Amino acid sequence: MPLRATIGGNDTHAYEYTEEGWTSLKTSYKATNLLMPCCSSLAIPKTSKLGTFFFAHKQKAECNSAPESAEHIYLKTLVAKAAIEAGWTTCTEYRGRSPADEDWVADVLCKNGCATVAFEIQLSPVPYSDIAERTERYRRSKVRAAWLVDSTKFKEWKSNSNKNYPIFGVNRFDTVEPPTVQHFERPVDEFVKALLSKKVQWIAEPWEYDIFYIEDVCWKCNEPVKQVYGSAIDVYGESAKTVPNASTVLSKFFDFITNDELRSLGLNTIEKHEKLKGNAPGFPYCNVCIHCGAPQNNHYLMNHLQKQNREFGEAKFTSPREGSGNWVWLNDNCGSQASTTSLTVGSRGQ
Ligand SMILES: [Zn+2]
Ligand SMILES: [Zn+2]
Repeated sequence: MPLRATIGGNDTHAYEYTEEGWTSLKTSYKATNLLMPCCSSLAIPKTSKLGTFFFAHKQKAECNSAPESAEHIYLKTLVAKAAIEAGWTTCTEYRGRSPADEDWVADVLCKNGCATVAFEIQLSPVPYSDIAERTERYRRSKVRAAWLVDSTKFKEWKSNSNKNYPIFGVNRFDTVEPPTVQHFERPVDEFVKALLSKKVQWIAEPWEYDIFYIEDVCWKCNEPVKQVYGSAIDVYGESAKTVPNASTVLSKFFDFITNDELRSLGLNTIEKHEKLKGNAPGFPYCNVCIHCGAPQNNHYLMNHLQKQNREFGEAKFTSPREGSGNWVWLNDNCGSQASTTSLTVGSRGQ
């Protein structure tokens, strides 16, 4: 059931009416051409059991739009009003289309300058993959999505919420008091305002890797080199154990670090050398001398790893690409931080 209808072709939003305005619309609407936005059939202004104003079909037979609960329209109203208070323009049940011709309908679409945020209220259970898919569809339309979900139906919302998929659990409610957002314990309307005003931001915790190396000498140029042979993050680590396994371990470096970054740490880089003598067939990854570019085959590496007189070392690398994090309500005196992402970042398709 929408909060939006049209009168004479112009949008009218139920949440923009005062008590008196709504009462007067209820007596006067028959003389106007009040239509539903979903199917352009006649609309009636109604008031829900939670006291929310909304529009209903005069005859619903013809329309296939899904019915919405009183809780859903109440939350939509709260979100729309909060966004307006935060200085955004809003439209509910907004119909849009991605460049790939995918249709979508946003519960509440909020605009401010070139930033666009779609709030979706999801009180019935759906798989998280649906939420992710719909978020991606919005992203393709240069719209940032934010989800308000029922915390009793989506108990794992927090671990599924991240910078790309902002998901927030709303506590159950059956009164006309705004419900609170779980974990933040603030009313939904206050939370939405904070989100749109960048007071709630994603704080990233970049992942720190340890890279294991041995102090060695390049067989070709005789310069000292740091031959890499393993890496670890937290308690998860892997070191080369055999000649073929060295290639496998080294190939995984590219999941978190580039050759330029290895070089900047003073470590050897890693390359694929298919037919190099001393590499196992089908296991082509090996160290490459930082000075002369000569491949250091894995037989050579394993041999030196097993010698007792080598110096072992560890280099620290903080991945700028990966990490975990949290949505955090920032204090008033907290300035903008390099590692934070507000909801409005990325809404321009960046
Ligand atoms: Zn309809
Ligand atoms: Zn060399």
